[in-house]
Amino acid sequence: MGENMSKRLKLLSSDSEMEERLFPNPFPDWDQGTVSSPSEADAEPPEPFDADGKVSSSFQRRVQSKIKDLLQQMEEGLKTADPHDFSAYTGWIGIALLYMQLHRVSGEASDLQRALDYVKRSMRILNGRKVTFLCGDAGPLAVGAVVHHKLGNSAESKDCLTRLLQLQASVLSPDGDMPDEILYGRSGYLFALLYVCREIGPEAVDEASISQVVTTIIESGKSYSEEQKKSERCPLLYEWHKKQYVGAAHGLSGIYYMLLQPGAKVHPDMLAELVRPSIDYVRHKRFRSGNFPSSLSNESDRLVHWCHGAPGVIHMLLMAHKVFKEEKYLKEASDCAEVIWHRGLLRKGYGICHGTAGNGYAFLSMYKATRDQKYLYRACKFAEWCLDYGTHGCRIPDRPYSLFEGMAGTIHYLSEMANPEASCFPAFEL
Ligand SMILES: [Zn+2]
Repeated sequence: MGENMSKRLKLLSSDSEMEERLFPNPFPDWDQGTVSSPSEADAEPPEPFDADGKVSSSFQRRVQSKIKDLLQQMEEGLKTADPHDFSAYTGWIGIALLYMQLHRVSGEASDLQRALDYVKRSMRILNGRKVTFLCGDAGPLAVGAVVHHKLGNSAESKDCLTRLLQLQASVLSPDGDMPDEILYGRSGYLFALLYVCREIGPEAVDEASISQVVTTIIESGKSYSEEQKKSERCPLLYEWHKKQYVGAAHGLSGIYYMLLQPGAKVHPDMLAELVRPSIDYVRHKRFRSGNFPSSLSNESDRLVHWCHGAPGVIHMLLMAHKVFKEEKYLKEASDCAEVIWHRGLLRKGYGICHGTAGNGYAFLSMYKATRDQKYLYRACKFAEWCLDYGTHGCRIPDRPYSLFEGMAGTIHYLSEMANPEASCFPAFEL
């Protein structure tokens, strides 16, 4: 009885903990309630789809008008933002990325111009302390190279690229404290190189530079794995601040995700012998719910964020499915999507790092991979949740207007509704 009682108490405490973290999903799921089975031929399509199964124009109009409203609030709020934060994560270059996205959707020259303004603002305050796209100098330099390229300023674009490549020396240094994760480490620098290649063309960065960074990441993972005596089970292992994190921001799934990118050109033998078994090792750590732990030693099934948990790991699984063509990866990605649907409306807010918009990107990626309408429906419902920005009593993030913690990220997500097939999680997806 004692055991039963303690189990019950545990359940209760975890229920209330859940309530602290998330809102129960109020939307009917794709195959429930108003969303009828395909056998009912004359059934009404669920909101927000129209009769042709497309996202309805009335929903698109609501999204557009919210984007306008939030942009105004964001610009006003940014007047009091930290003037020295140039980062993509919480600073000015993140705002430049948002305007580039708006330019992509609208084609408006003024959006690109705004992006340039924020690039210039960032470039003036680079400090040489960090090397990644999200938190370091590589962000402004890479985005600067791309914006100048789009505007036809080839000298400025080339200058940014040269300076971006100069950061490589510290990335390649095998000693020192350089981690390998995305936020502060080598794979966050690798992203910057892959990003400029995607936006400008493969000639933007020579192959040797990319391959040197990739090799350093792989060697670092091999040697740490040997040190931990895990070469057999997990040949590429990484730590950050003494923990073997799993999530996209600081952990293994983010690093493997970058190594799986076609642009990283990791040799197929290495993918098969090193990356794949490491991914499979992480897969075995998943919880029964389908969610993933924040680190290999953490056994509590709590966080459902892009930075920690299923919403980040899902992107690695989808890439693994694309590269290795095995159904199990897609199946587990769809399990992640279930967890995110049920536990992804977060009290932490509407941002992309640990908020509802970042979780919505998981559905967009599932939709791109499968073209299953269910995922587009779910992405729209998370967008619908974001249309009520600020009314749910969420926590206010420290940098409330920024790309990764705040409003700019939500606007970025909402803008994807115009063309979900081309959606792209900023500073992460390629
Ligand atoms: Zn986060």
